[in-house]
Amino acid sequence: MDARSAALVRANFRSVLESPGGAERLISAFYGHLFAENPRLRELFPPAMQMQAKRMVTAIQYMLDHLEDWERAQKFLEQLARDHRKFGVLPSHYDAAGRALLAACRSYHGPNWNRSLDEGWRDITILISASMAIGANSDKSPPSWEATVVGHRRVLEDLAIVRLQSEEPVPYQAGQYVPIVIPQRPKLWRYLSPAIPANPYGEVEFHVRKIRGGWVSPAIVNETKVGDKWMIASPLGGLHIDRDTDRDVLLIGAGTGIAPLRAQLIEMGRRGINPRVHFFIGGRYPCDLYDVENMWQLSQSNPWLTIVPVCEQKTNPWWYPHPPADAPYGMHRTLIGNLGAVVASFGAWADRQIQVAGSARMIADTRRALIAVGTPEWNISSDPV
Ligand SMILES: Cc1cc2nc3c(=O)[nH]c(=O)nc-3n(C[C@H](O)[C@H](O)[C@H](O)COP(=O)(O)OP(=O)(O)OC[C@H]3O[C@@H](n4cnc5c(N)ncnc54)[C@H](O)[C@@H]3O)c2cc1C
Repeated sequence: MDARSAALVRANFRSVLESPGGAERLISAFYGHLFAENPRLRELFPPAMQMQAKRMVTAIQYMLDHLEDWERAQKFLEQLARDHRKFGVLPSHYDAAGRALLAACRSYHGPNWNRSLDEGWRDITILISASMAIGANSDKSPPSWEATVVGHRRVLEDLAIVRLQSEEPVPYQAGQYVPIVIPQRPKLWRYLSPAIPANPYGEVEFHVRKIRGGWVSPAIVNETKVGDKWMIASPLGGLHIDRDTDRDVLLIGAGTGIAPLRAQLIEMGRRGINPRVHFFIGGRYPCDLYDVENMWQLSQSNPWLTIVPVCEQKTNPWWYPHPPADAPYGMHRTLIGNLGAVVASFGAWADRQIQVAGSARMIADTRRALIAVGTPEWNISSDPV
């Protein structure tokens, strides 16, 4: 695609985003065209489509931003297509999706549509549908696995540890995340990060925090029972420790964001030689550090690992009426303050490979704090939020 055409399509998409309600209208026209041509596709998607629409806008924007770095855009689209296998979307559906997007652009712009825009968007939609079909075709594993809940422990009022076992092991790498769906909320897929590495027995553990007003997380924390059948779909994401460099590691996790970091550490514990790792575990209150002792225990038999607890408050909140637990003898004392600010107060950690995991806000704050003290941005990895 030539530079002029790319600039034209980008400017056109920007005009949609800048117009109030524009993105919603375009995406709703897209699904309108798609479902009109393929009525059975509608059954594959959840009843509420707002989240899908938001994701689709983000995906189109990402792709338009990376037209000059197509390998990256293609990887992203391939991953997106693998993720859509959980809905039952087939490679052949991507042609229809490409046509529906072009038709949506035409109908959205009406009389303002012209031949150059049509050619530009047609090229883009062909690129998108071809890349997604390649992604969907390339994954030969099952689109999802059934797993049975074998344990549900509520460690805090709003946080549960759920253990499951699948017949066949789910083939994820420690640090990746997986889409899950629970029987209490059919079709509402959400991402969770396994907190232990994959193993031959098919055991998986998730740490789940209840989000107020959320559809799925309160049901996981409040209603999950032993024997429930969950579906787990193909793993995604690429958080990992790069063993091809001699750089040591800095891990920063808050709340249930520790899960993908914990899985990697447990996996490292099975190896003989590892880089040095500093793991800062943060929370708002002392009770939020629900797993810090387990991680400290792991460090006792793995001298390459240092655990540093960080809390914003010294005491527990009124709804958790217990004094903070005494730290085991030898554990680093809890540092008080904002997690990112505390980590950055030690310097730029410029010689480390850094992973940050937690809420979107925590990741953004921590990145900002590190970059402000001179950490190179490319050193910092995190999952999309
Ligand atoms: C890569 C990745 C890995 C994840 N891993 C885990 C994990 O291991 N454990 C875990 O508990 N969660 C994890 N999540 C979050 C999880 O996927 C859900 O988003 C979360 O459980 C809320 O789902 P819900 O259905 O309850 O809320 P929804 O019904 O989806 O959302 C309800 C409202 O809450 C807001 N909201 C959604 N999530 C958050 C949040 N985190 N903080 C504040 N507001 C929010 C929404 O914007 C919306 O307004 C992960 C998310 C991603 C992207």
